[in-house]
Amino acid sequence: MKVAKLYDFGDIRIEEVEIPSISDDEILVKVKASGICSSDTMKWYIRKKAPLVIGHELSGIVVDIGKNVKEFKIGDRVFIHHHAPCMSCRYCQRGNFVMCETWRKSKIIPGGVAEYVKVPEVNLKNDTLKLPDNISFEDGALIEPVACSVKAFKKALIRPGDYVVALGLGFMGQVNVKLAKFYGAEIVIGIDKVKFRLDRAIENGADYVLNFETENVKEKIAQITNQYMADIVIVGPGTIEAINFGLELVAKGGKLLLFTPTPEDAKLEIKPFDIYFNEISIIPSYSAGPDDTREALRLISEGVIKAENFITHRFRIENTLDAFMMTANAGDSLKCMIIFD
Ligand SMILES: [Zn+2]
Ligand SMILES: [Zn+2]
Repeated sequence: MKVAKLYDFGDIRIEEVEIPSISDDEILVKVKASGICSSDTMKWYIRKKAPLVIGHELSGIVVDIGKNVKEFKIGDRVFIHHHAPCMSCRYCQRGNFVMCETWRKSKIIPGGVAEYVKVPEVNLKNDTLKLPDNISFEDGALIEPVACSVKAFKKALIRPGDYVVALGLGFMGQVNVKLAKFYGAEIVIGIDKVKFRLDRAIENGADYVLNFETENVKEKIAQITNQYMADIVIVGPGTIEAINFGLELVAKGGKLLLFTPTPEDAKLEIKPFDIYFNEISIIPSYSAGPDDTREALRLISEGVIKAENFITHRFRIENTLDAFMMTANAGDSLKCMIIFD
């Protein structure tokens, strides 16, 4: 079978490997759709993890099952989360699934952009979902990233009437705009510099969009919110610059949501005086757990999130590098997806 293996930024090779063999407690899935995530294109992240088979946002169809597997059958259409928690450790019991050691260690074999994947027992039991008939494979491949947005808003305790700013309007920023409105935000403001992305944010429900290269964003947000600023600022880019910019836009009593990691050695300088007296909460949200994927599946099956609004480019596995470069360039595209026969 073919896999797309990432060796370095811009170095993806299509390689031929054996189809993984499964044990009695595992299943084999023929991948149908696999999204490219912008986190897969972050240079420092790649250098920590490469070489690896790229991709962790996928859906497919069950083609083989181990003899102990009862909950799934051949022909089932499924979403598979690449990490799954043990459900029994203290982190899991308290709902902090991504802190679970099993979650961190678990993975699908060999990775998302592959013609077939093996789903290990823990992933199968604790975060594999059957797709209802009204959900396409492309919709199914959006469950993982949409779950990240679901979790982030849950952590930020979004409330009806909130003013929300989305910094960065790539695919995730667009989903955050859409869900912020869905959760009842009164004003949603999207910020980017790419016209295509600003326009798409309006289509996805943003009340205002601002171009940070040509507009004074802070002043504009003050005007729009009658000097209040934003209850929640979602920082898309994983940079100190973006975090600092976000901090300038948070209202008193508001929240700064860190949606993307920064490099390991990055340091943030903050004034605790301001954080304290303005009661600013800084809330990180990393990935998503099984409760979030179920909620994402529900939102997608109810049509709140539709693949057609977010997938802008489709590629065959042979052209994974093109999908990667398009995602990395962050221009006139949102989600790039690898589609399989
Ligand atoms: Zn992702
Ligand atoms: Zn656990």
